[in-house]
Amino acid sequence: MLNILVTGGAGYIGSHTSLRLLEAGNNIVVLDNLYSGYRWAVPKEAVFYEGDIHNRALVADIINKHDITAVVHFAGYIVVPESVSNPSKYYQNNVISSFELIDICIQQGVKHFVFSSSAAVYGIPSTTTVDETVEPNPINPYGRSKLITEWTLQDLGFAAGDEFEFVALRYFNVAGAYNGGMLGQATPEATHLIKVACEAACGKRDGMAIFGTDYDTSDGTCVRDYIHVEDLAEAHLDTLDYLSEGGQSTIVNCGYGRGFSVKEVVKTVKEVSGSDFSVSMETRRPGDPPQLIADNSKIKKVFNWQARFDDLETICRTAYEWEKNLT
Ligand code: UDP
Repeated sequence: MLNILVTGGAGYIGSHTSLRLLEAGNNIVVLDNLYSGYRWAVPKEAVFYEGDIHNRALVADIINKHDITAVVHFAGYIVVPESVSNPSKYYQNNVISSFELIDICIQQGVKHFVFSSSAAVYGIPSTTTVDETVEPNPINPYGRSKLITEWTLQDLGFAAGDEFEFVALRYFNVAGAYNGGMLGQATPEATHLIKVACEAACGKRDGMAIFGTDYDTSDGTCVRDYIHVEDLAEAHLDTLDYLSEGGQSTIVNCGYGRGFSVKEVVKTVKEVSGSDFSVSMETRRPGDPPQLIADNSKIKKVFNWQARFDDLETICRTAYEWEKNLT
């Protein structure tokens, strides 16, 4: 049983993970400024603080008051095109605030830190699947903000020696919703593909656009490795087990190791919803790499992680069911 601080625990992935960590018998404290998260998404067994991760005094208080030994850091902005048009926002929050958080955590004696990094750090890989040894080369400010935070963890963690170990989880494309129906993605003004398609299927928007049909992929649209949010939540549990058992700092991909094109995803959402919403073909969106698929050998080997929902239909169906019930 651990006392864990979850930043961004009112958000989409943070709330699913908090729930899973609670189910496994841990004590959870959530810190979230409710910028894109919701108070209702925080499991009721968790202690909740509304506040910013860069508030060092608040973070130090929480760590001491709740005897926190592990931090899982989700809080951050996640929209690639927005990071291109408004990079300052991403440097301010994802880079500077994360630095403040990591620094105070180490000062206050937190031993273990799990960071929500992203496949966006890879940029445009030259291999079909990408493993963690590939040199990162992000092509947008979002990806850079994640890579800089990985470096921050490496440098501060190195200086802290055996006192501090971290795992950066490089998420591929997270989607779907909790099968119990009580949690899902509620982010306003969504930009992520499956969420947008589900909104279109529910009539919450007048159709949708596919951005770019001239990529060098099987059908010309971008290919991504979509991972169900419950499998991702489980990966955090496995990560904390690894660290608790004395595991060293490391970086790990979280994906299924296979990709689907934008067109395949849209087709699947249409099938599971029975809605033939309108789809327009548009030009490329800035900052999009053509293909990102995980080599997930490491997470399976080192953490013994096992995927349970590796099925595009399940991912789209759970996302759609959630969207239908979301007012
Ligand atoms: N996409 C799209 N229409 C949308 C939203 C996304 O065609 O309304 C495409 C986007 O251009 C990219 C892929 O879907 O090729 C995945 O984008 P998303 O924003 O879901 O995730 P990202 O990979 O950018 O983190």
